[in-house]
Amino acid sequence: RFLSLEGGEGAGKSTQARALAAALEARGLPVLVTREPGGSEGAEAIRALLMQGDVKRWSAHAETLLFAAARADHVEKVIRPAIEAGTWVITDRFIDSTRAYQGGAGGIDDAAIFALHGFGSRGLLPDRTFVLDLPIAEGARRAALRDGAMADRFAMRGEHFHADVARAFRTFAAREPSRFRIVDANRSPGDVTAMLLAQMSDLLP
Ligand code: C5P
Repeated sequence: RFLSLEGGEGAGKSTQARALAAALEARGLPVLVTREPGGSEGAEAIRALLMQGDVKRWSAHAETLLFAAARADHVEKVIRPAIEAGTWVITDRFIDSTRAYQGGAGGIDDAAIFALHGFGSRGLLPDRTFVLDLPIAEGARRAALRDGAMADRFAMRGEHFHADVARAFRTFAAREPSRFRIVDANRSPGDVTAMLLAQMSDLLP
């Protein structure tokens, strides 16, 4: 099975990825936790390119291609082999981050992003995608607590950008209710993990 966690910065995706993995492992299931951009050697090298310098370093089209290239490597080298081996894969961000950041907020066409995903990653989609939804002000507060470079990246983009990202995630969830679940991330970490587990009970053996 393949699960993705999506949402803005500071929503708790990486914390929840680990907590969800621990809960699945406690049920005896093999789990791999990974993240994007990155997750394979080549994709981590692309991540370093993407995260260096100003948020406007790359044109929107080049940025979209770099995310798609990183994902293609991550899928082929790490995600697909794990799924085929029967491991549960939990990824902190996937295709829907590109659709929300470069698409909804950045102006790149959703169909073009899907076309790249079809070519690069053979269109692989998660069995379930959780959107960790957080008020913008709380996301900004949490982002400011992160390491300096990540806090700066968040601030450089401005409130409108982050509002557009959040709106895009909610739109995808409304359009594709069988894959998506929206979870209120403005709760304690334990409560959020419990909600995630409840929202994937149909997938559990
Ligand atoms: O929050 P996380 O560590 O996952 O995000 C890493 C960085 O990558 C953040 O600055 C985030 O805004 C950015 N990002 C992006 N476009 C994506 C995915 C992540 O700009 N498609």
